[in-house]
Amino acid sequence: MTNEALPKFSATSYAFAPYVEAKNWIGGEWVSSKSGKSMAIENPRAAKKLGEVTMSNADDVEAAVQAAEKAYKTWRTTPIKERGEVFYRLKYLMQRDIEELSWLVSHENGKTFAEAKAEVEKGIECVEFGASLPNIAHGEQLDVSRGVNCRIEHEPVGVVAGIAPFNFPIMVPLWMMPQAIVGGNAFILKPSEQVPYGAMKLAALLKEAGLPDGVFNVVNGGADAVNGLCDHPRIKAIAFVGSTTIAKHVYIRGAQTGKVMLCLGGAKNHLMVVPDADVQLTAQNVAASFTGCAGQRCMAASVLLAIGPVDHIVDAIVKEAAKIQLGKDLGAIINAPSVKRINGYVEEAEKLGAKVILDGRASRGDEQGYWVGPTVLDNVSTAMPAATQEIFGPVLSIVRCKTIDEAIAIENANSYGNAACIYTTSGAVADYVTERVEAGMVGVNVGVPVPREPFGFGGWNDSKFGTGNITGMDGYRFWTRPRKVTTKWALQKDTTWMG
Ligand code: NAD
Repeated sequence: MTNEALPKFSATSYAFAPYVEAKNWIGGEWVSSKSGKSMAIENPRAAKKLGEVTMSNADDVEAAVQAAEKAYKTWRTTPIKERGEVFYRLKYLMQRDIEELSWLVSHENGKTFAEAKAEVEKGIECVEFGASLPNIAHGEQLDVSRGVNCRIEHEPVGVVAGIAPFNFPIMVPLWMMPQAIVGGNAFILKPSEQVPYGAMKLAALLKEAGLPDGVFNVVNGGADAVNGLCDHPRIKAIAFVGSTTIAKHVYIRGAQTGKVMLCLGGAKNHLMVVPDADVQLTAQNVAASFTGCAGQRCMAASVLLAIGPVDHIVDAIVKEAAKIQLGKDLGAIINAPSVKRINGYVEEAEKLGAKVILDGRASRGDEQGYWVGPTVLDNVSTAMPAATQEIFGPVLSIVRCKTIDEAIAIENANSYGNAACIYTTSGAVADYVTERVEAGMVGVNVGVPVPREPFGFGGWNDSKFGTGNITGMDGYRFWTRPRKVTTKWALQKDTTWMG
C-alpha cells in the first residue's frame, strides 16, 4: 500500500496525475478519517483536480496518539545511534527518489520543478542534521565536588506533533521531524490539507528506512485536526509553521493543556538598498527574492527600502524581474482566492497613489492555473497595506527613504521580524544595519537569508511565538527535556557536597 497510494510519477511530462485519496498514516496503515469527510486537492498550475484528502477530526487524532504511544514505549529506549541510522537511510532514499518527490511537490504546490527540487534538497540537509545528532547530542557531565557528579541527559518528551503550511510540503516537516524522532519521540504530522502528497511519500520512505510503525504518523485535515492536536492532553509538544493569526491561535490553545509550543508565523521582509550597492548582484538577488516560489515563502522580499539616489538599481531590478517567464522560472499561486488577494493589494495601492512599474496581474503561465507575474509597486507609502501586510505573492513594494536611519525605523515599526537584508559594498553600512534591524534572520547582499544547517531557522516578533529556533540544535532542545542527575557513592570516603 505504500507507493501505490501516491499519484503516478512522470518527471518530464508534467502529465496530469490520476485521482488519489490522501489518507492518514496511523500505526503503519493508510486509513480514511473517521469523520467520513474529504476535500478536493487541486494542481494549482493546471487548476485541475489532483485527488482528495481525508479531513480528520479529534477521533483520528486519538487513534494517532494511541498508535504513537504504543510505538514510543520501545522507541524511547532504542539507542540514539539506531534512531539516527533511520535518517541516514532516509537521506539515501530521498536522494534515490528525488525526481518523484520534486514532481509531487511541484504538482500539489504549483512551484516549478527546479524550485521543488531545491526544496527537497534543503529537506535532505535537515535529514542529514538529524542523522548527525548521535555524534553531537551527547549529554554533559562534571565532577562538581569530591565524589559528586552531575550529568545532564536529554530525554524525549513523548508523543509530539508538527503542523505544516502549504508552501513547503517536504521541507517544513523535515524542519521538525528528524530532531523529534532521533530525540526519541513519536511524531504526528498534520500537513497542510492543500498539499498532502509529500508527507505521504515521506511516510512511505520512513517505513522503507526501517522506522517502526507508529513512530511517525500523518493526520490529514484542517482546523478540526489542528484543534484536536492542540486539545489532546497526552500530546506533549507541538511545533507549528503557518500564518501569524493561526500561529497565535495554536500557541495559546496548545499551551492550555500544558504543551511546550513553538509556532512560526508570517512575515513582511524588508530589503534595503543604498547607492553604493553592486547593481547587477542586487538586481538579480532582489528579483529572485520576491519572485521565488511565486513570493509564497516566509523569507521572500516584500518591501524594498530604496535609500537615496538608487533609481539605477530600481531600474535594473525591474529589468531582471521582467525577464522572468511564468511556468518556466516562476510557478503558480496556490489557489484562486490567493490570486484575488494578491491582485487586491496591488489595485488598492494603485488607488492610494502607488505606481505600478511592473504589472503581473494579467500574466499567465503555461497551463490554465492560478498565476500572478512579477509585480513592482513604486512610491508606496508606509500607510498603505501593501507596505505593512503580508501579500504572499510575487509583489515588491518600493518605499523611498532619504536616510538609512529612516529605513531602519520603517523596518522596525513592522510587527513581523522574520528576515531583513541590506545591499551594500560597505562593511560599515552592513554592520550598522545588521545591528539595528528587528529581524531574526539578516542577509548582507543575500535576499533570502535562510540559515543553512546547522544554524537554526527562526524569526522574531510576530513571526515566531515561543523560544529558540525550529531547526539546528535548538530543534533538538525543543523536542527533548534535560534530566539532571546528581550521583554520590558511599565508596568515596572524602566526598564533599560543596567545595
Ligand atoms: P495557514 O496558517 O493558513 O495554515 C497553516 C496550518 O494551519 C495548516 O496546516 C492549516 O491546515 C492550519 N489551519 C488553517 N486554518 C486554521 C484554523 N482556523 N485553525 C486551526 N488550524 C488552521 O498558512 P498557509 O496559508 O498554509 O501558509 C502560508 C503562511 O505560512 C504564510 O503566512 C507564511 O509566511 C507562513 N510561513 C511561515 C514560515 C516561517 O518559518 N515563519 C514558513 C513557511 C510559511
